[in-house]
Amino acid sequence: MIFPDYHLHSEFSTDSTAALEEIIRSAKENGLTSLCLTDHHDLDFPFFDKDGNMEFQLDLPAYHKTLAKLRDEVAPDFDLRIGIELGIMPSTVQKGTAFAKDHTELDFIICSTHIVDGMDPYYPDYFEKYGEADGYRRYFEVILEALRGYTDFDVYGHLDYVVRYGPNKNKFYDPADYREIFEEILKIIIDHGRGIELNTGSLYRGLDVPHPHIDLLKLYKELGGEIITVGSDAHTPDRIGYGFDVARDMLLAAGFTHYTTFKNRKAEFHPIPQGGNA
Ligand SMILES: [Zn+2]
Ligand SMILES: [Zn+2]
Repeated sequence: MIFPDYHLHSEFSTDSTAALEEIIRSAKENGLTSLCLTDHHDLDFPFFDKDGNMEFQLDLPAYHKTLAKLRDEVAPDFDLRIGIELGIMPSTVQKGTAFAKDHTELDFIICSTHIVDGMDPYYPDYFEKYGEADGYRRYFEVILEALRGYTDFDVYGHLDYVVRYGPNKNKFYDPADYREIFEEILKIIIDHGRGIELNTGSLYRGLDVPHPHIDLLKLYKELGGEIITVGSDAHTPDRIGYGFDVARDMLLAAGFTHYTTFKNRKAEFHPIPQGGNA
């Protein structure tokens, strides 16, 4: 495998049943010596399970306890990093800032937008309300609104994730239609010393390209962006590292020479392998 996977979910996420041991085993089988778990924690998530519990809430004490034990067991052959995918909305930016301040033990924080105006674009009601182009625009606007209040993360997750769920997916999607919003988004990210991720999870969810669109990768690079992690967004062990050969080609095509990993919230840069070990 080409890159350490920096976007992975386990049974600690509401939408995954993947056992941590299985994830590590699968990663090792694929030749990885490091990865970073990033289970879901969505602040003030607006949906609840049948027992009335808020979904996508990470049991952080249990997460840390389990991962710390596992990290010790697999070391020194395997470097297990502990991260989180923090779901943010404009209404939770202060909570996000407080969360990051309180959790300095994490190696890595992905900030993601999953909820827009109380709706989850995963469900049809979102596009029924906004239509496709405006639904995409609203998602990007909400990222920008969140970024105006919260920047204490390491990378922003799957920037154009909403396209996964649009009625026509990426058929009519052109980032140039939203260029002003994306420029503002990327400038804030770069000005604060943060990064973005290249997320291949779309490749097994009906799209033929990762997030974000190659034009956004190029724009990010052009604006001075350097920090970029690579993640599969796998919710099952068999998807770890999925499409990383595609990710590498995209990064090289966009002019990147290095990818990024994180330890204790500090960026580490590594040359992108030129090929041959996919
Ligand atoms: Zn996500
Ligand atoms: Zn995810």
